Amino acid sequence: MPWPRPIVFGNWKMHGLRSEARTLAGAVAAHPGRRTGTLGVFPPFTVLAEVAGQLEGSGITVGGQDCHAELKGAFTGSISAAMLKDAGATAVLVGHSERRHGLGESDGLIRAKAAAGLAAGLVVVLCIGETEAERAAGQTVAVLNGQLTEGWPAGASAERLIVAYEPVWAIGTGRTATIADIVESHDAIGGRLATLAPEGEAMAILYGGSVKAENAAEIMAAPGVAGVLVGGASLDAAGFWAIYQAGGGA
Ligand code: PEP
Repeated sequence: MPWPRPIVFGNWKMHGLRSEARTLAGAVAAHPGRRTGTLGVFPPFTVLAEVAGQLEGSGITVGGQDCHAELKGAFTGSISAAMLKDAGATAVLVGHSERRHGLGESDGLIRAKAAAGLAAGLVVVLCIGETEAERAAGQTVAVLNGQLTEGWPAGASAERLIVAYEPVWAIGTGRTATIADIVESHDAIGGRLATLAPEGEAMAILYGGSVKAENAAEIMAAPGVAGVLVGGASLDAAGFWAIYQAGGGA
């Protein structure tokens, strides 16, 4: 098992001035624990190097929230996977719904970003998920299959790629998918992963979408759920740790 369970990743999104990020990272790292699972944070680019330095030796993964598809070049305002690595990141999120749907990123672009992340030596967290309309139309499994197949980078392995299932309608809304829906989607994702990579069945699949301390235990106890990707609730260190502990992390 390349990733000790539970895997609990915090996406700080566009939150964290330097002083706030320092305080939050310090509070996450200060919690006594043996790190029996996998804990990680994904801070904004501007504080990434500082947070990575602060968390060095803590056993906590630090990742970027996105990267450009090219490793360098004339792409004003963009950040490459190599730059993330240089700043101390070991992982990168690609395909987050706030970029797919908020910024119109296509599966092809996401595949190129994932490939760039792998090429730079980062672990890629590939985010996928259906919209509310797609779910209502009974298209959830087809959408997930399509996003996986079209967004799949060559050379992905269980050690270097983690999938995060995040229904778009559950992100930042306070609504979570039912356990039955989560299990059904994770099952479908697992089935498709088995066809995409020789190690597909061993790949970790996280759930994301309004996870908090109160619902984390039930979600992480569901079959096929290796952990969670947490947005809003990861901005509070005590709540974030409570989620990790709810999944059996210590
Ligand atoms: C996310 O940003 O990936 C996420 C799941 O957000 P939230 O937990 O706030 O729904």
